[in-house]
Amino acid sequence: MTSLSPNLSDRDRVLEATDLVALVGEHVALKPKGREHVGLCPFHDDKSPSMSVVTHKGNAFYKCFACGAAGNAIDFAMEFHKMDFPEALRHLASRAGIELRGLRDEGPKDPATSRESLRKAMAAANRFYRKCLADERLGATARAHIAKRELGAEAVELFELGASPEGWDHLVKHVERLVSHANAGGETLHRESFEALGLIRPGQRGPIDGFRGRLMFPIHDELGNCIAFGARALQEGDEPKYLNSPDSPLFSKGRTLYALHHARRAIIETKHALIVEGYVDALALHAAGIKNVVATLGTALTKDHARTLQRMAERITLVFDPDTAGERAADRAVETFLAVPIDVRIAKLPDGLDADELLAREGGRAEFDQAIEAGEDALAWMVRRFRADLRGASGMSGQQQRLQGLLQKLGELGFRSVDPLRKQFVLNALSEMVKVPVATLMASMPAPRVTNATEAPVTVQAPATEAPSAPRHRARHTAERNFLAAVLGMSERADVRVVVGDAGSMPLAEAFAEDHFDHPDHRQLWTLLAARIESGKSFHVQDIGADAGVPTIKLLAFELYETGSRRMESADALQSLQAAASDLDRILRQSAETPLSSRKALDDTTLVAVMDRLRREGHRPGAIARAVRSDARNATAGTIPADSHRMETPS
Ligand code: ZN
Repeated sequence: MTSLSPNLSDRDRVLEATDLVALVGEHVALKPKGREHVGLCPFHDDKSPSMSVVTHKGNAFYKCFACGAAGNAIDFAMEFHKMDFPEALRHLASRAGIELRGLRDEGPKDPATSRESLRKAMAAANRFYRKCLADERLGATARAHIAKRELGAEAVELFELGASPEGWDHLVKHVERLVSHANAGGETLHRESFEALGLIRPGQRGPIDGFRGRLMFPIHDELGNCIAFGARALQEGDEPKYLNSPDSPLFSKGRTLYALHHARRAIIETKHALIVEGYVDALALHAAGIKNVVATLGTALTKDHARTLQRMAERITLVFDPDTAGERAADRAVETFLAVPIDVRIAKLPDGLDADELLAREGGRAEFDQAIEAGEDALAWMVRRFRADLRGASGMSGQQQRLQGLLQKLGELGFRSVDPLRKQFVLNALSEMVKVPVATLMASMPAPRVTNATEAPVTVQAPATEAPSAPRHRARHTAERNFLAAVLGMSERADVRVVVGDAGSMPLAEAFAEDHFDHPDHRQLWTLLAARIESGKSFHVQDIGADAGVPTIKLLAFELYETGSRRMESADALQSLQAAASDLDRILRQSAETPLSSRKALDDTTLVAVMDRLRREGHRPGAIARAVRSDARNATAGTIPADSHRMETPS
């Protein structure tokens, strides 16, 4: 938008009235840090909090130091909710209770299939199905089903349940009425929008309803807009039992979680998300006051689901039905979460009950809470499942096949790049089980398949060595730049101290050695900077430029100086420097992992003990990895980690 835009004043009023921390905080767990708030960036696969929301100096903006996403509240709405500018403006205005003055509705290019028209059509269908559920005749079967499942009126209302009537064209006729009413001056609606959403489909004798004779569960986006339906058959033998809306510009099955719009606040507050298998389970749990619950849409959990939850929660508990299908679903879920640095557990409900059945019985709530508390660590679960699988295999070749299958799967899932602690836990347990050395197991593991076009291909190396992961390499590069920019961007440097790792505070020049920088240009620039800092006199970027001699280093220095000083205008200089130093230190520690084969392996009991101890102290998974590394050093030196003798291994 240029300054000539007639929307300028609307835009400014909306920005002024929007609390950016609150806005971002509705979707991302934010923590105050100095004068900023930080959290996991929702725009890239963020592993450490890279996004900060800066609100002082009157101009609120967010900025991701890793992927470069940045902007104001309107940009956030546009990027996060995939809105266009007028949509974002309207959304934020209505959120802040502002009436827009100057926004003209120029109309979308294709009026019937614009996101706005599709949203209106979804909302209209939702209203229609809800009316049908209340209708004495059309909603009778659906209401009987609701009564049988003991879903309360409150839950039905909260989740906007509806009924698609039996018969061929109830919705078709309703839409015809709406469209002609729209032509007579009502809200603009197009039949094509309903068709694009699968609500109406072509039949042999004209259009027919897409959903017939089903209990309708509207599926919402994070803002609570209806974007799709999950529809349960009400007649015995109607197939499929659950029918979902097709993917559309509003809805992607692999990205959406049921009930997230009601759950996200509780998930962010408790930092804990429960995932259940069905709509009805989610409904029953919400109705019982357990709000941090979402459900999958009858699909396996995807990496996108994992990412969505990761930016809100530090812990995820999978609550799956205690049958074979449920166990297989849990297996797949564990695989999905394998590469995500998040605490994942599997909870089993007692007596083979579903969540809604358990809650319905006396004392069920307490039993449910207990089952969640007793959730089994996902890796322990995986190892235990494999052990059972192995026992079922006949003879050496059968066992070998099972092992090869597992290694194949782990490799493809990107096992090589998972957190070192988790990796070692699995490898040690497997090695113990099959009596094969860890190094041989690693060597038999294939390199990961590149499944996502946005992920750069991973270099395949000799199988016994670790393939460097491209994302980690990028992250290191970014961290190096950020640190150098922070150093260049602050005016007082000589006596600044930073805290890195467990070493406590130290002079800035000593925090990193030359060879801590991977990129040769970064290495050279740091050498120059460190020398100047050590001299104890203040200096300017021009001095560094002069020292450099080489044009590329000079250019780099100026470029980073600009970035750095711009950042310092909007943030506390020392804090930014400290944050950049910590980031770089963390990444260095990750990539400095010695190969597993050459390191003295910790036994499972010790690993589990350390994990448990840290978990009880409320640390994040990253802290667990760090602590285990330092415990590993102690163990190699002959000391025993604190209180490991008290712990039992869960597997
Ligand atoms: Zn980002």
